Amino acid sequence: MSAGTLIDGKAFAAGLRQRVAGSVAKFVDVTGHKPGLAVILVGNDPASQVYVGSKKKATVEVGMESFEHRLPEDVPQSDLITLVERLNADTAVDGILVQLPLPSHIDDKAVIAAIDPAKDVDGFHVVNAGRLAVGEEAFVPCTPLGCLMLLKDQLGDLSGKNAVVIGRSNIVGKPMAQLLLGENCTVTIAHSRTQDLADVVRRADIVVAAVGRAEMVRGDWLKDGAIVIDVGINRLAPEGGEAKGRLVGDVAFDEALGHAGAITPVPGGVGPMTIACLLRNTMVAASRRAGLAMPEGL
Ligand code: NAD
Repeated sequence: MSAGTLIDGKAFAAGLRQRVAGSVAKFVDVTGHKPGLAVILVGNDPASQVYVGSKKKATVEVGMESFEHRLPEDVPQSDLITLVERLNADTAVDGILVQLPLPSHIDDKAVIAAIDPAKDVDGFHVVNAGRLAVGEEAFVPCTPLGCLMLLKDQLGDLSGKNAVVIGRSNIVGKPMAQLLLGENCTVTIAHSRTQDLADVVRRADIVVAAVGRAEMVRGDWLKDGAIVIDVGINRLAPEGGEAKGRLVGDVAFDEALGHAGAITPVPGGVGPMTIACLLRNTMVAASRRAGLAMPEGL
């Protein structure tokens, strides 16, 4: 049995944010203006409000311009799309992010389709998803991009590794699998209909869990030495006088430590990488739009 080491996503994300800040400073020197990220929040979902607040803070901290647009819960879809189109045309805006989920009367696919793919820093537009699938330069969704950075930092070359991605959502599982394929891994995508998941996971050198089920992946499912990236964020029921239950991932962390070579904790693993990668994508969008070279170290 190996004693797993912790993959410190918080520290890696802090380093990435610092490198983005360095690129922002150079960009401002050359262009005379700041890269700009516009975030649209519809309604009053408390979790979304927290995410949008964190994104704004992080954007300003690296020296970028943050444009926030808050729309009421009952905003007509056409008004939201009109705002997206206005931001597409706004030269001060390099990246556009529409915070999901949107209220049920709005078709999120139609809204995402309205974003200029060159400003789609979330990487959700079908043009970017398609480019990723065919191996062209694309904006890649921030969470899987962050997972890949952590994996490469841990392992270097991923070529030939057996990777199992659990979950097939458009924002995490599918792009994660595409990225790993792009790194020459042998990729298996597992999902809710997969049979004998434990057996599938046991073959993996790399496990990425993106399910949303607390501690579903057990320690004895893991091959000794496997590298485990836990994307899941699940809140347990409060215990023993706790006001809020603990946050846990999709992997039974304490058990996994006895088998994994390395593992991301929850919190402090993948979570901080998501915002850092959003800033990274915005910096890349701004550089492309200004006709500058790809920033170094990002
Ligand atoms: P989703 O609900 O869209 O997708 C979940 C996937 O899990 C589905 O593809 C489904 O097939 C699969 N699944 C469900 N039950 C399963 C089972 N029993 N066995 C195997 N697969 C099963 O979720 P998502 O948006 O991809 O997010 C997944 C998790 O990651 C959630 O906990 C979410 O909160 C978290 N998340 C974290 C970050 C971050 O920044 N750390 C970002 C995005 C999502």
